[in-house]
Amino acid sequence: MLPAFALIRPRSLSEALSAISDDDVPYSGGTELLLAMRAGLQRPRALVDLKAVPELRRIALLDGGAEGTELRIGATTTHDELARDAVVRDSFPMLARVAAGVGNARVRAQGTVGGNLCFAEPRSDLVPALAALDASVVLIGPGGSRRVPVAEFILGMYWTVREPDELMVEVRVPVRPVRAHYVNLRITERPSVGVAIRVDADGRCRLVIGSVGEQPLVLDYDGIHEVDPDAVSAAVEPVPDLTGAEDYKRHLVAVMIRRAMAELETGKKQ
Ligand SMILES: Cc1cc2nc3c(=O)[nH]c(=O)nc-3n(C[C@H](O)[C@H](O)[C@H](O)COP(=O)(O)OP(=O)(O)OC[C@H]3O[C@@H](n4cnc5c(N)ncnc54)[C@H](O)[C@@H]3O)c2cc1C
Repeated sequence: MLPAFALIRPRSLSEALSAISDDDVPYSGGTELLLAMRAGLQRPRALVDLKAVPELRRIALLDGGAEGTELRIGATTTHDELARDAVVRDSFPMLARVAAGVGNARVRAQGTVGGNLCFAEPRSDLVPALAALDASVVLIGPGGSRRVPVAEFILGMYWTVREPDELMVEVRVPVRPVRAHYVNLRITERPSVGVAIRVDADGRCRLVIGSVGEQPLVLDYDGIHEVDPDAVSAAVEPVPDLTGAEDYKRHLVAVMIRRAMAELETGKKQ
């Protein structure tokens, strides 16, 4: 049974902002929040339903000024919307594939990009994929807005840099000529390990390991030849769970890095 709660339905970003507080929490698809409430882990006074806030639901390529052209993904964009968007499929095929592979049909139809990042459940496909693409999130609160790289947004399990009075407005992904690829291993509905890799036009490379530790491991290299799967596997801090012990997860990390690198070279690339 869900505990009793009030439902607030703001129609604009400013209404939503003034409605949220420690006790009155943002609510997007509810795929995580309602489970947490049902389990008694969260007991908000009110849910502030973000679905009718137009500023939060858009996907567009926009000129970011000094930041160059960016893909802007509104926080309440669902996984399905991301996977099906023509611009995303064309310019960021890795991202479209990642969104299309999330969980199950219900989670993809209801779950949102903002909810995925803000909940910070460690077994996320989006976090490593977006961190590899050097994406940032835009947060807005009473003091104004700030931009945080996805690579720095997650502080630990279910813990981010977002303050309770801040809303995630959008994710911004720089448009650059990169090659990128993501592979995961799924034993349950959520990934047990996810590896995202991006190679820039000048050869520099970013590797992100997700779902294994409490937060993603982000590593930058001058070239892909510097990536040592065994060294990365030794550096991760796996959280053992029902899908595998620490040693097994370390082994998986090395295997999945090799797979990601091989597939990037053989054509499954962005
Ligand atoms: C069965 C199952 C399988 C899954 N499999 C995968 C998988 O394979 N890969 C993967 O990456 N993920 C997976 N997930 C996670 C899924 O992606 C998330 O549940 C979903 O994206 C969360 O979005 P939501 O809109 O439902 O969030 P909600 O449940 O509405 O909210 C989650 C949290 O984020 C906060 N929040 C929501 N939106 C905002 C905002 N705009 N600003 C500030 N705070 C906000 C809420 O207050 C709450 O704390 C799975 C989940 C389930 C239940």
